[in-house]
Amino acid sequence: MSLVNFTKTELKNLFSKPVTEKYPDGPATYKDVTRGHIENNMDACVLCAVCQMRCPTGAITVDRKKQTWSIRPFSCIQCRRCVDNCPKKSLSMAKEYTKPDVEKSQLDHELSDRQKEVLAEQARQAAERAKAAMLASKQKAAQAMESAARKTVETAQKDGDANNDPESKDGE
Ligand code: SF4
Ligand code: SF4
Repeated sequence: MSLVNFTKTELKNLFSKPVTEKYPDGPATYKDVTRGHIENNMDACVLCAVCQMRCPTGAITVDRKKQTWSIRPFSCIQCRRCVDNCPKKSLSMAKEYTKPDVEKSQLDHELSDRQKEVLAEQARQAAERAKAAMLASKQKAAQAMESAARKTVETAQKDGDANNDPESKDGE
């Protein structure tokens, strides 16, 4: 670089705004495409665990018993796979980076009370449907058995009538 070019660059840098930000002394700004961290709307999540299965780093844990969705931010590589595969669209990628911490802790999120009620009602309805389907299938099987037994009795009666028919015996 010639001295002229160097001087020009120096002067330009001296009198223009810095390209860097004074974060954390000032607020950070994020581009539209920034992949900061994963957020989950616990009003929409159904704990189906698709995100857990698709996460390449095992950062997500779904616990249906405790009704929690958890993520380990230090394991997340912001690939967005969980967001793109969530059937309920409850996951999103927030622009802001997670706050610095001294521990690699797991963040647990509990289902909202409203969502707990919704899922409990869905489970109750599914159990009722399964019970009704089982009853219907039992009834169908019982009807089939009854019909088969009736046919057997009818056939036996017909055979008995034919054997006792004198005309039928004369013809022999
Ligand atoms: S975040 Fe989406 S994919 Fe993950 S458990 Fe909840 S509903 Fe399923
Ligand atoms: S963004 Fe990628 S690495 Fe992070 S939790 Fe989702 S699937 Fe896992």
